[in-house]
Amino acid sequence: MPPTNSPPPASAGPNPHPRSWHALGPEEVLGALSTGPDGLSTAEAARRLALHGPNRLPAARPRGALIRFLAQFHNLLIYILIGAGVIAAAIGHGPDAIVIFGVVLLNAVIGYIQEGRAERALDAIRRMIDPRASVLRGGRRTTVPADELVPGDIVLLEAGDRVPADLRLLSARSLKADEAAITGESVPADKTVEAAPDNAPLGDRVSMAFSGTFIAAGHGTGVVTETAGATELGRISSMIGAVEQLTTPLVGQMNVFARQITIAVLGVSALVFLYAVALRAYSLDEAFMVVVGLAVAAIPEGLPAVMTIALAVGVQRMARRKAIIRRLPAVETLGAVSVICSDKTGTLTRNEMTVKSVVAGEEEISVSGTGYAPVGEFETGGKLLDPAADPALARLARASLLCNDAHLNQDGETWSIDGDPMEAALLCFAEKAGYDAPTTRHTHERLDEIPFDARHRYMATLHQQPDGSRVVYVKGAPERILAMCDKVLVGEGGGVEETFDAAGWHHRTERLASEGQRVLAIACRMLPERARTLRAPDVERGLTLLGLVGLIDPPRKEVLAAIAECRAAGVGVKMITGDHKATALAIARQLGLSDDPQVVTGQELDAMEAEDLAARARTASVFARASPEHKLRLVEALQADGSVIAMTGDGVNDAPALKRADVGVAMGAKGTEAAKEAAEMVLTDDNFASIVAAVREGRTVYDNLTKVIAWTLPTNGGEAMLIILAIVFGLTLPVTPVQILWINLVTAVALGLTIAFEPTEPNAMQRPPCSPKQGLISKRLLWRVLFVSGLMVAGGFGLYASATARGLPLEVGRTIVVNAIVAMEIFYLFSVRYVHGPSITWQGVLGTRAVLIGVASVLLAQLAFTYLPVMQRLFGSHALSIVELAAIVAVGVAFLLIVEAEKRIAESLMPMKKPKWMRRYGRPRPPRA
Ligand code: ADP
Ligand code: MG
Repeated sequence: MPPTNSPPPASAGPNPHPRSWHALGPEEVLGALSTGPDGLSTAEAARRLALHGPNRLPAARPRGALIRFLAQFHNLLIYILIGAGVIAAAIGHGPDAIVIFGVVLLNAVIGYIQEGRAERALDAIRRMIDPRASVLRGGRRTTVPADELVPGDIVLLEAGDRVPADLRLLSARSLKADEAAITGESVPADKTVEAAPDNAPLGDRVSMAFSGTFIAAGHGTGVVTETAGATELGRISSMIGAVEQLTTPLVGQMNVFARQITIAVLGVSALVFLYAVALRAYSLDEAFMVVVGLAVAAIPEGLPAVMTIALAVGVQRMARRKAIIRRLPAVETLGAVSVICSDKTGTLTRNEMTVKSVVAGEEEISVSGTGYAPVGEFETGGKLLDPAADPALARLARASLLCNDAHLNQDGETWSIDGDPMEAALLCFAEKAGYDAPTTRHTHERLDEIPFDARHRYMATLHQQPDGSRVVYVKGAPERILAMCDKVLVGEGGGVEETFDAAGWHHRTERLASEGQRVLAIACRMLPERARTLRAPDVERGLTLLGLVGLIDPPRKEVLAAIAECRAAGVGVKMITGDHKATALAIARQLGLSDDPQVVTGQELDAMEAEDLAARARTASVFARASPEHKLRLVEALQADGSVIAMTGDGVNDAPALKRADVGVAMGAKGTEAAKEAAEMVLTDDNFASIVAAVREGRTVYDNLTKVIAWTLPTNGGEAMLIILAIVFGLTLPVTPVQILWINLVTAVALGLTIAFEPTEPNAMQRPPCSPKQGLISKRLLWRVLFVSGLMVAGGFGLYASATARGLPLEVGRTIVVNAIVAMEIFYLFSVRYVHGPSITWQGVLGTRAVLIGVASVLLAQLAFTYLPVMQRLFGSHALSIVELAAIVAVGVAFLLIVEAEKRIAESLMPMKKPKWMRRYGRPRPPRA
C-alpha cells in the first residue's frame, strides 16, 4: 500500500494542485502513477493521452478571424480613406464614396487572405522541427513527438536534450541540467535520484528534471509526473509560443521609412490643399478629394505588406530546400553570409562509414564490402585471410564490437543501423570477422562505461569475460590511445605482449589518415576481478594496443557542386572537424574546398594570440582536432573584420558558437534540441548543400525586397507628381482622385505582389555577398525614383496633351492617362525583375507564373475599367478606340527602352563595390559542374 502522504493515482485525472514528486522515492512515484520501469503500454499511453490532452503549453490564443480582419483597417491611410469616404458621402459624392469604401474593403480582404496564408505556411514549417522524446513503451525504446507524452511515461535523457515534461528521475549518471528557463540559474545543476526535502525550492529539487530545461551533460531516465500546463514551466508561463511577429530588420526599417513618407505626404497634402483653395479657386470638397488622391498616390502603404510576403515566400522556399528558418531575420542575413563554417562528418560527408583497413598485430589488412551488410573479406599482402585463424584480428574485432553502442538491423536484403554510424561500421567489421553481436555482448556483460566525449576523444567499457575476469576496452583517437599504451598485442595465440614502437604506430596512423580514412586505435587492459566501475585513471595508462581501424566516409556528392558554387559566389567555406589533420586535409582536397587547403589544429589554435588567430582563421580552411570551444573562438575571430558567418553544430557544447554566429545552423536529424534552440536555421537533411541553397534563397529574398521597393517608390512617385504638377500649374486634373485610388489600390497591389514571388536571378551566386550594413535605400535607388517618376509624368502628360489637342473629351483623356500609367507600371515591372542584368531577354519577356497571372488580371481589370458601363459610371472612364490603345502600348514600350538604357549606363558608371572578403576569397569563377 502506498504511504499516507502518497498522492492519489494519476489516472484520476489532471490534478490542479502541485505535488511533491521530488520528495517521494522512485518506487512511490512509479506506484502513484501506475507505471513501472518498462514504461506504459502503447494502449495505456493512448488512453492517458485522451484523458490528459497533448503535452503542449497553451499557445497564446491566436487572434480570432474577426480581430484579424479588423486589424487590416488599422493603418493611417485607411483611416484617412474612411474619413474621406464619409465626407464624400456627406457632401453628395455618392459614386466616390462607393469607390472609396469598395477599395478599402477589397484591400482588407486581400490583406486578410494573404496574411492568413503566410501564417499557416510558417506554422506548418515550424512544426517540421517539433521536438521528439525517447521513451520506453512496453519495455521498448522508441521516439515519439514530445507532445504525446503522458504521466507515467519513462523518458530517456541525454546531453543536449530538452526535457520534454516534468520528470521524477529514476537513474542519473553525471546528469546536469541547465535550468535557466525555470530558475534563472545559469550554472547547470547536478541531478540525482535522491529525494529532496518536501519544502525544497525549485532549484534544489535535485531529483526532478523540469520541462523546458536542457540536459547539459550525462544521461539518465525519469518518469513523467506532469505534462503541459501542469509542469513548472506551464505554471510560470502559461503563454509561451506567442505568435511570432513577421518582421525583420529590413522590414522594420521599411516600416519606419513608410511612416516618415506618410507624415511628409500629409504635410505636403495640407499645403497643396491650402494652395488649391486659396490660389487656384478649387472648392473645398473638390480640393479635399484631390488631396485624398494625392495621399493615396504618394503613400507606399502596400510596401511593408508586400515585403513581408516576400520574406514568407523565402522561408517557404528554404523549407522546400530542407532549411527550416527558426528566426525570421535569418532570411535576410543568409543573403549576406560571407563565410560558412561547416562540420565535416555527416554534413560535408555522408556519415555512412565503412571499415576499409585494419592493422592488427604486425599485419596490415584490407576489408572489402559496402554498406552495413556484414559480408566482406579480409586480405593481406594479396592473400585472402581467414579471420578465425588470426587471433590478433579476432581480438581487435571483439573489442570493436564490445566498446560500441550501435545496433545493426536486417530487413530482408537491407541493413539499417541504430546509433553512431562509425560504431555501426565497427560492428559490421566484427561480424565480417565472424562474431555475432548479441551473443558476444551477452557473454561479455558490460559492467560500466566512460562514454565518448569530444573533449577526451575516447570511449571505454568494462566487461566481465566468460571466465570471470574483468577487461576494459578503449577506443579513440590514435594520439590519445597510443599515449595511454605501453605494450602491443602480437603473435600467435594473441597472448604475447611486448613494448611497442610508438613512432611506428603514429606513422601507420598518418598513412591511413592521408588517404582520407578516419583512424581509431583500440586497446585493452585487464582489471582486478573485483572491479565494478570505471574511472579515468583505470584507462588512461597501462593499456595494451590491439591495433588500428581505418574507416572511410565518402563526401556527399552534391557537396562538391555546392562548394564550387560558394567559391563562385565569394563565400568562403571552412571545415571544422574533430578528426585527424591528415584525414581532414584529404577530404578537403576531395571536396575542392580551396586550391591549396591549409590546416590548423585545435592545439595550434589554443597556442595562438588573438591577432594570429584572426589571420590564421582567414587563411586556413580546415580546422582539425577541433572542439566546440574552438568553434566559438573561430566565429569571433572571423567576425572581427565584419564577415558574416554561418556556423553549423549539433551537440550541446556547440550552442554558444551557434548563438554567436550570424546564422547558427543546427542539424535536424542528428542535432540535439539544445543546438536547435540556439540556431537560427535547422537543416532537415543535415546536408551542407542545403545551407548553400538557403544562401541562394536568402540572396533571392534580398533581391526581391530591393525590387519591391524599386518598383513601388517610382510608381507612387509618378502618380503623385502628376497630381501636384497639375495643381501647381492650374491644369485640369489628368486623373481624378478615384481613378488614382483605382490605380493604386487595385492594379498596383496585384502587380507589386508578383515581385514577392520572383525566382532567383541566374547570376545570384556569381556575385559577391552584399554588405549587411548596406540599407535598402541607396543613392542609386533615389535617382531611379526621380528618373522613373519623371518618365511616367512625361508619358502621362504627353498622351493627355495629345488627346486634348485632338479635341477628345475630358473622360477619354483621363481614361488614356489611367491606362498609360498602368501600362508603364507593367513594363516597369518587367524591367525591375532583373536588377543586375538586361530585362529584354526571351526569359525576361516570358516572365513567371506569378507575373503572368498578375499582368493578366490587371489587363482584365483595365478592360473592365475602360469598357464596362458600371465602371464608367463609378470612375468616369470612357471607352477607347484601338488607336488610343496602340498609342498607350507604344508609350509603354518606349518607356521600357529608356529605363533599360538607363540601367545599362548606370551599371557601367556605378559598378557594384566589391566588399573586402571578395578580394580575400578570390575572383568569382563559374561553378564546376
Ligand atoms: P567530427 O567533428 O568529425 O564529427 P568527432 O568529434 O565526432 O569528429 O570525433 C573526433 C575523433 O574522436 C574521431 O576522429 C575519433 O578519433 C574519435 N571518436 C569519435 N567518435 C568516437 C567514439 N564513439 N568512440 C571513440 N572515439 C571516437
Ligand atoms: Mg562526430
